Amino acid sequence: MSPRRARRPDPRDKGRGSVAPRPLDGVLRGMERVEEGPDGEWKVRNVSGAGSDKMYRCPGCDQEIRAGLPHVVSWPNWSGGEGERRHWHTACWRKRVDRGPGRSRY
Ligand SMILES: [Zn+2]
Repeated sequence: MSPRRARRPDPRDKGRGSVAPRPLDGVLRGMERVEEGPDGEWKVRNVSGAGSDKMYRCPGCDQEIRAGLPHVVSWPNWSGGEGERRHWHTACWRKRVDRGPGRSRY
């Protein structure tokens, strides 16, 4: 029989527990996000371009995306949308949304 309790409930413990870093979830969401545009929802993923020597054509400006250039890949956020993946210059993708409804090409 012990006169002392080994642990007292400490409210600060609970607070500390809630700031524990979330595993993986946040990292994955940082790579791939959903953006709502005038033409629906899109999944957008940042691509570093490193390690790829493929060239893509940006549908925003109709120019080539040089190999190794960081850019974004987007596709419609519905099942099967992955097959519609397109590579965009990061700036062109942003501009596309800024153009507003009725002006988008995709
Ligand atoms: Zn472009």
